[in-house]
Amino acid sequence: MTEAGAARRLEGGPIAAEIRNAVAEDVATFRADTGRAPGLAVVIIGRDAPSTVYLEQILRGCAKVGIEARFVELEGEATEAAVVGRIDELNADPTVDGVIVQMPLPPTIRLRSVIDAIDPDKDIDGIHPLNAGLLRLGYDGFLPATAHAAVEILRRSGIELEGKEAVVIGRSAVVGMPAAFLMLKEDATVTVCHSRTRDLAAHVARADIVIVAAGRPGLVDGAMLKPGAVVVDVGINVVEGRLVGDVDFDSASAVASAITPVPGGVGPLTNALLLTHLVRAAQRHAAASPVSSGTR
Ligand code: NAP
Repeated sequence: MTEAGAARRLEGGPIAAEIRNAVAEDVATFRADTGRAPGLAVVIIGRDAPSTVYLEQILRGCAKVGIEARFVELEGEATEAAVVGRIDELNADPTVDGVIVQMPLPPTIRLRSVIDAIDPDKDIDGIHPLNAGLLRLGYDGFLPATAHAAVEILRRSGIELEGKEAVVIGRSAVVGMPAAFLMLKEDATVTVCHSRTRDLAAHVARADIVIVAAGRPGLVDGAMLKPGAVVVDVGINVVEGRLVGDVDFDSASAVASAITPVPGGVGPLTNALLLTHLVRAAQRHAAASPVSSGTR
């Protein structure tokens, strides 16, 4: 039993480092087997979007493990047809194993057109409807990296999930819903809450595990939690120039048995897991077209 105020910090950094080391080994093996590096294309629409900083981080992470990653830049005024056309070219390019597209899209470009355009076999952030459907059915597809990280940090920290009451706050297609399906796959009993949930506090009070992905700073605090609950804070918010999650860390730490910090929890793991998805895509492509193998 953890004493009040002594919640274990579930740090993503060390787990991410372990994952990156394993990825670097897999990349070296892949290069030796195929004579090429796994390749990632990051489609950027307008260089000055705030998420460019995050995408540059991904590029640096790729370089460190030997993945060839590059920006494919389109002007901020690019038409939907131009974006879809560029994605088609990347789908056909055998040196590209994974494609991610900078979000949010400019308002003139429909999200659905872009996600439908990505080849599901190159959709390493699991946004294509086919991959979402595979997850829904419990089959193996590409998972959205953030949702994957939210559950993986629990698994790798040895938190028991089977039979536990889990509350996921947020129902977005990229975070909340996939996290809920992953928790179901881990045999937790899952409740999904959202902005129209009538009594959020009542749901949270029952939860053994709370995954918060709402983008609302301070949405969950210690007074709402069941003593000993485990809290995963996916939120990323900037408040008065400081990066904070959706959970009031200090009050929650006094009641929870374990909690992820922001920054330093889910975030680092998200980037590392994305690399594992890319290597998996590359391995699948190499297996499907063995003629590209240097040994044949
Ligand atoms: P989103 O698309 O805006 O979805 C937010 C969800 O939270 C919606 O389902 C919304 O409900 C729900 N919500 C909003 N206010 C609520 C409230 N007061 N009570 C209960 N539910 C509420 O956001 P997202 O893309 O899923 O991202 C969620 C958070 O994760 C954001 O802070 C984002 O920055 C962060 N994020 C983190 C990472 C990472 O690597 N750590 C990666 C991506 C995103 P409705 O559906 O009813 O509107």
